[in-house]
Amino acid sequence: MNQPASPSPQDSLDQAHGLEVDAVAAVLQVSQSGLDSAEVADRRQRYGPNRLPLAPPRPAWLRFLSQFHNVLLYLLIGSGIISLLLDHLVDSGVIFAVVLINGIVGYIQEGRAEAALRAILSMTRTRARVLRDGSLQEIDSEELVPGDMVVLNAGDRVPADLRLVQVKGLQCNESALTGESQPVNKQPAPLAPGTDLAERTNMAYMGTLVSGGQARGLVCRTGINTQIGSINTLVQQVRWPRTPLQNQLQRFAGQLTVAILVLAASVMAFGIYLRGYEFADMFQVAIGIAVASIPEAIPAVVTVTLAIGVMRMARRKVLVRRLPAVEVLGSVDVICSDKTGTLTSNIMTLRELVTASHTYTVEAAGSPGKETAQHSSDTGSGGQVYRDGEPGAVSAGEDGQLLAAARVAALCNDAVISGDGPQRELQGDPTETALLVFALHAGLKAAQLRSEHLRLDHVPFEAEHRFMATLHRDSKGESWLAVKGAPERLLDSCTRQLGDRGPEPLQHGYWQEQLERLGRNGMRVLALAMKTAHDGQPMAHDQVLDGLMLVGLAGISDPPRPEAITAVANCHSAGIRVKMITGDNPVTAAAIGHELGLDAGAVLTGRELDTMDEDQLAGAVESVDVFARTSPANKLQLVEALQKRHHVVAMTGDGVNDAPALRKANIGVAMGEKGTDAAREASDFVLMDDNFASIAEAVSQGRTVFDNIHKSIVFILPTSMAEATVITAAVLMGLVLPITPAQVLWVNMTTAITLSLALVFEAGEANVMSRPPRDTRSAILSRQMMLRLMLVAASGALIVFLLFRHYLAQGADVEYARAVAVTALVFVESFYLLNCRFLYHSIFSAHMLRNPMPVIVAIAAVMLLQLGFCYLPIMQRLFEVAPIAAGDWLLIAASASTILFVVELEKAVTNRLGKGARG
Ligand code: ATP
Repeated sequence: MNQPASPSPQDSLDQAHGLEVDAVAAVLQVSQSGLDSAEVADRRQRYGPNRLPLAPPRPAWLRFLSQFHNVLLYLLIGSGIISLLLDHLVDSGVIFAVVLINGIVGYIQEGRAEAALRAILSMTRTRARVLRDGSLQEIDSEELVPGDMVVLNAGDRVPADLRLVQVKGLQCNESALTGESQPVNKQPAPLAPGTDLAERTNMAYMGTLVSGGQARGLVCRTGINTQIGSINTLVQQVRWPRTPLQNQLQRFAGQLTVAILVLAASVMAFGIYLRGYEFADMFQVAIGIAVASIPEAIPAVVTVTLAIGVMRMARRKVLVRRLPAVEVLGSVDVICSDKTGTLTSNIMTLRELVTASHTYTVEAAGSPGKETAQHSSDTGSGGQVYRDGEPGAVSAGEDGQLLAAARVAALCNDAVISGDGPQRELQGDPTETALLVFALHAGLKAAQLRSEHLRLDHVPFEAEHRFMATLHRDSKGESWLAVKGAPERLLDSCTRQLGDRGPEPLQHGYWQEQLERLGRNGMRVLALAMKTAHDGQPMAHDQVLDGLMLVGLAGISDPPRPEAITAVANCHSAGIRVKMITGDNPVTAAAIGHELGLDAGAVLTGRELDTMDEDQLAGAVESVDVFARTSPANKLQLVEALQKRHHVVAMTGDGVNDAPALRKANIGVAMGEKGTDAAREASDFVLMDDNFASIAEAVSQGRTVFDNIHKSIVFILPTSMAEATVITAAVLMGLVLPITPAQVLWVNMTTAITLSLALVFEAGEANVMSRPPRDTRSAILSRQMMLRLMLVAASGALIVFLLFRHYLAQGADVEYARAVAVTALVFVESFYLLNCRFLYHSIFSAHMLRNPMPVIVAIAAVMLLQLGFCYLPIMQRLFEVAPIAAGDWLLIAASASTILFVVELEKAVTNRLGKGARG
């Protein structure tokens, strides 16, 4: 809540929609070139950061109390109260200690989980493009101050309340503010002062989404002073929602409670009526059974495992936006990925320019044939252009076709080269920076060119339309249009081409051939075209794309990321199909797909998908891996078709129109760097580095999370069952209890804070990415695991029972024999914990040495507590036990270790019988 509540001097801007733009600028005291740094610093001081206050976190006491809101714990608390009433002080004391410890563990873990989420929230800040000190800069939107000139593009979340200055087809979805989901068309003209909020078409409000178009606007209000800040609806809350698995476990807990109550009541009735025990004793036994069987550690274990998974993923540049998706990751069997920037490096280099009569190649200085730009901020200075393989370099000044192409490339372009010499930096879309660098190599400076050919109007690039156009007036006062875009889109609109001697008729066949050739080499191809125009040239699409003159085809290379090639191979061995869905042309897509190791034999285009019926589509999604020239609607279509065939689909996206497909996919993955706010908000995960390899990494983490939860459950359930079995068996057989209810509680209490938490820290198993995805329809516990559960419960109970009887037979006191039985139980659990490190594979392997610390620490801790239990006089008195002789520890350990071999034998047998597969 560090938002200063100082009244904004822009109060007069309450009615900014009623003022002319100049009047607003005057109130805000801002010039054409935006604010300068000193003024920004001053205003930031005055108005504070542009952020909405976070909702206050739930108070600590409420969070603590909510840990007890669980049916299993109600049962425990009820048992504690009854024990207290019956004067069983030790029992009730230990029960309350178990409840309390569980609450504290849960409270601490939930706190850590929420801190992890909060950290992630702070990493997903929105960025804003702003004009300051005369240049366009990208800043954290928290840094905005009143008076800043902000540039909006499709997909942006509006970062503050803006009075729009220039509008180019801007549409905003203002549902966050007005509840109206239809996009609102915006315009810059002043409106009547009393206009309603929903009708203020010349304002863009913080928190609303730009669904299309572009605009510039002046920041009038920031942070808490904005409309959304004042109505306080968009209060961000950090919540830790329940996942499907947690819900499933919650239901399971309910069923278990009923089963436990039935068991405890039956044993009690049996003891009283058939064995003639006292009611009070039997009641205590019943409580012992109930408390022993309650796997109270499971809810905390699940939360901790998820929190650890989320943190591990964040370290690998994957931000989790929706927690339940972490579990789904383990079941993903198809990943649909964009090509540019995700599977490829997004290092764009213009390699070849083809004109009507020549082929130009571009080479970086000193390294012929190598890329001119090694990374997107490389200035590419010093490269040269060669014509038709001739030895001397050529420049735009001496070659008319090269000049025309380079001019279109540099002018129909929003990228910027700033600075000079080695300090030079490129900003903007990598496709466009590649074109700027090319123009520079050809001898044209963009800044100079742009001042000689003033831009009068433009059609922005949008993925659906695949072209961009700009209207210019040159120094002679003549107007002309520069157009660049996907060749298929432009070739049909061209009637002429620029030849050596000027315009000539278009040779369609020649261009098609060149287009194929560049595509086969894996290059993205852009057509460059122009035509003469007049000042008031209408900029509607069909009027722009009419009677154009083609000046050249630019072949831009964007090689696959080496790590993506490895990641694709990893996905394949993990039983995950990778499908590339790109806006690029089919030939290029096939070439890149092939390099990535995809099955690129057949490529389907968006247009072909549009004409398919449901059956054809279902067949196509199974057999084809590369989809080209797709629209966002095609992505949605593909997700739906894959889901119909029961695939669990992860889909990447970055544009505003990708949002429906991202929402529909089982896992929507947005790009952190080039993605829009709209795509990010529709997604479950955000890839901070836009890298496909990170998705594969996330899948591996997701599988590990599920494995660890699974392992913890497989560990916790049979140990509770073994404890209950020991007591039940003793009552049924009419024998002295080997373990008293208070002692069972002791074991539960100590293992809950030690052994039960060890498995959540396990690293992924070696085969985590070499086995098929988990079937979502399968139960948490397979038949094999159910069998193991019973085997462990029975063997554990037997070991404890036999040791107890053995010492009694040797003439030991019951206190001594019970101390042995309790210690044996702790040993059994410790050995079984080792078994659980690998559910299906033998633990007698080198992998056991990987990351052994959590398990070692947990076992050491529980043993230390057990020593205290046996040897501290106060514990001896409380739990009625006698100190165990040193030599007996050996027998106990040796007997308990049989559980280790029993379970390993079971694994070996089931694996041999071929039932070891997951199911
Ligand atoms: P992906 O969908 O895998 O990210 P992509 O980046 O090639 O692939 P888009 O950005 O939608 O897909 O581009 C589609 C086509 O539009 C490109 O192949 C290119 O021909 C053209 N294109 C891309 N960027 C521009 C631009 N800035 N100006 C004009 N045309 C462009």
